[in-house]
Amino acid sequence: MRYTAKEMLSKLVAFDSISSNSNLPLIEFVESYLESLGVSSQRVPNAEGTKSNLWATIGPDCAGGVILSGHTDVVPVEGQPWDTDPFVVTEKDGRLYGRGTADMKAFSAIALSLVPEMLEAGLKRPVHLALSYDEEVGCLGAPLMIEDMAPKVKAEAVIVGEPTMMQVVSSHKGVLGLETHVRGYEVHSSLVHTGVSAVHIAARLVLWHEETMAKNRARTEHLPENELFNPPYTTLHCGMIKGGTADNITAKDCAFSTDIRTLPSEDAGEYLEAYRAYVAELEAEMQTIQPSTGIDIKVGCLVPGCRRETDGAAERLVRQLTGDNAEHVVAYGTEAGQFQDGGYSTIVCGPGDIAQAHAANEFLSLQQLEAGVQFQRRLIEHLSR
Ligand SMILES: [Zn+2]
Repeated sequence: MRYTAKEMLSKLVAFDSISSNSNLPLIEFVESYLESLGVSSQRVPNAEGTKSNLWATIGPDCAGGVILSGHTDVVPVEGQPWDTDPFVVTEKDGRLYGRGTADMKAFSAIALSLVPEMLEAGLKRPVHLALSYDEEVGCLGAPLMIEDMAPKVKAEAVIVGEPTMMQVVSSHKGVLGLETHVRGYEVHSSLVHTGVSAVHIAARLVLWHEETMAKNRARTEHLPENELFNPPYTTLHCGMIKGGTADNITAKDCAFSTDIRTLPSEDAGEYLEAYRAYVAELEAEMQTIQPSTGIDIKVGCLVPGCRRETDGAAERLVRQLTGDNAEHVVAYGTEAGQFQDGGYSTIVCGPGDIAQAHAANEFLSLQQLEAGVQFQRRLIEHLSR
């Protein structure tokens, strides 16, 4: 069975693969589609077996090929004012509307629709498809797949097909998400010196975010290597906080969430370490008043940034294929840094505009779909030489 890129996109969008759902129906479809073309694929499931990555090799089993990376999950549509059914690709005014058309089922759909062409092209070096789960909730799936692929797949380049309007994106910030729970000790506020207010402790921890960010700004905003980033420093932000029960009771609990966006040149792990050190300091202080108190930290997500490579093979290849020689960075996180950590030269380049991603009435223009098809056809040609 052959599909055009548009038909394949309609197939993929029809699977309601919102991150909270299983992506297995989509994976099963891709698996049997590839099998019908004589291409075997490899599942790399999560621990519960409810979701899976899938990777496959098309062409000869040798080094030097290219990995095309896409995530299969999409963000929710709940509460969004869609004009069309988000899970039915609807063409209107040169645009294809549907959840995941831009972010990022189109890139994978194009690759899948071109598998018959890849098979007929007489590839000298392989194309590897790498489809992940749970990208939208902290890039949780890809690391397992990369670990499985790295010893077997010696690719010259990884192309992460997130929507960049087919521009070559060579770096982006990383993300560290944290949940902090401060456990205080309740007393009447008139005896505040005998209690531990979780709210007050949390306030000091939130302030640490502000102070660290101010230091970052002073330290890195003038560095030319960061000039493409807006803002040109690592940001720390507390987006939600909840704690306390009454004006006159020292709060027993306070919980808040943190979002840290690290410059690719910085290590998110170091922020975590610095935060843990300050937490330990406050904990010691709290426990001199009441030993049962404490602070728990949970790491929600830890996604490395995409580092600009020096003379990177992926960047060179994709610049050659797109003709784009300008410098671009993006504000969102991708799996690119995880592929780099796996030893692969990696670049981000894909059809569609991130401006439409995650929003109601997400769309991909037909022009971008066609640009994506032409790009992958040039890649097939390149690998057949
Ligand atoms: Zn995406």
